[in-house]
Amino acid sequence: MKIDIIGDIHGCFSELKELISKLGYKWDTGGIPSHPENRALGFVGDLTDRGPESLRVIELVWELVTQRNQAYYAPGNHCNKLYRFFLGNKVQIAHGLETTVAEYESLYKKERQSIRKKFIELYEKAPLYVVLDNHKLIIAHAGIKEELIGQKHAKVKEFVLYGDITGEKHPDGSPVRRDWAKSYHGEACIVYGHTPVKAPRILNHTYNIDTGAVFGGQLTALRYPEMELISVPSTMPYAEGKFKNFD
Ligand code: MN
Repeated sequence: MKIDIIGDIHGCFSELKELISKLGYKWDTGGIPSHPENRALGFVGDLTDRGPESLRVIELVWELVTQRNQAYYAPGNHCNKLYRFFLGNKVQIAHGLETTVAEYESLYKKERQSIRKKFIELYEKAPLYVVLDNHKLIIAHAGIKEELIGQKHAKVKEFVLYGDITGEKHPDGSPVRRDWAKSYHGEACIVYGHTPVKAPRILNHTYNIDTGAVFGGQLTALRYPEMELISVPSTMPYAEGKFKNFD
């Protein structure tokens, strides 16, 4: 199994296109990439919100995952919230969702129905986390603890979407997250995102590849099984305070 797993995109479609090209994929006339050596793509979730072209990211990932079986997708917390928005649930249109909703509301009704249907299908078909290569590779948005692998109850859902949260908040209102990767001792390689870092963080077979594309960092891919990291720079303004420093 050869796969290129891409970190949190958050609507950064131009960076996504550039990264996929840099990985050696060729684009067909319909704007869909495929690799000459039949590699697959993987997505750690958080496709949308904050960036300029969330809906184009949805279209592409939906096509690759649900229509062509050329990609794997693990949903993120932003995906979960957008899904609930599309279902008509009452959600707070904030923390980046406002940009995706603005794009959506600018569309004609038919296009709105189409994108809504596609995203709902993509989300509902997705597992909580993706298990590949005979359990040697796991893609989970916020990561996963060894003892939760193989399970899918509510606690697992909370963990893979939000991380190892304590229930407490930082002074800025953001949730306190435990550093689960530090105490991970599993055999499976865990590829995840969720917490933006200035450079990919590799620790105990875990790979955080959310390098803050939407905060002016980079969009990063991990090539598996080569374990090679490939990035492209972001076109977004740099937001220093959005990156987490691990000591
Ligand atoms: Mn994210």
